[in-house]
Amino acid sequence: MTATIAYDLPVANFIDALSATGHVTHSKYKKTSVTFHHNGGRLSLQGILDVWKTRPASAHFQSDASGRVGQYVDVNEYAWATGNTYGNCYSISIEMADLTLAPEWKVAEVTWRSAARLAGWLFAKVIKAAPTRSNVFVHHHWKSTDCAGPYIDKIFNDLLEEVQVWYKHFTTPTVPSKPTTPTPTDDWEAIMGLFNTKDEFIAAVAKGTEQGVGNYMSRFLKDEAGTGDTILDDTKAHRAAELDVLNKIAANTTPKV
Ligand SMILES: [Zn+2]
Repeated sequence: MTATIAYDLPVANFIDALSATGHVTHSKYKKTSVTFHHNGGRLSLQGILDVWKTRPASAHFQSDASGRVGQYVDVNEYAWATGNTYGNCYSISIEMADLTLAPEWKVAEVTWRSAARLAGWLFAKVIKAAPTRSNVFVHHHWKSTDCAGPYIDKIFNDLLEEVQVWYKHFTTPTVPSKPTTPTPTDDWEAIMGLFNTKDEFIAAVAKGTEQGVGNYMSRFLKDEAGTGDTILDDTKAHRAAELDVLNKIAANTTPKV
């Protein structure tokens, strides 16, 4: 069985059933656009296949009255959809069930929004280009026809915007989950919470001290200019002077009675 696209919502698979009608050309093209159509009727996912069994026509997808999606033609293949060779080669056609019939040919919001979501996915994963007025079409872009009807013409800006929103959604990387390492904190309780026992805490402090001394040593004592030893000697001298001052203060201080 020929697989449907790897969409993140269910796709009813009619690809082999449509192929059996013979109303498709099994040659592959690099698709560059999406074309919207309407049924000119209120057809179910199975219903449009039944039409295509007798009418020499097809499209890649259909969005039904409740926004469910069916696939009929491999996404890169040539569907008999636009009445235009170039359109059939390079565009992916999406049919939409009508909510009302002539003259308005209204399409339910759930139907066209579902079709737009699918188109956004196709631009992100198959066409690999951002959807614009230059590659999002209705059928009458390709030939003289009313399809996709006056209602879709009226809301076309909303339809295009919806395609663009979903394109952005499907091309935005998912946010990685929170890091598991603890974040720096000044909260003493939180810090102590990192250790199970007093010994763990002491070991961690000892390790930190050792690393600190190690960093100091490698930073200053491996100094090829030889200034590291001077800095270490200066530090030792400074510490000795401090201790001397502290001792003098201690010797001259008499506790008050
Ligand atoms: Zn059409």
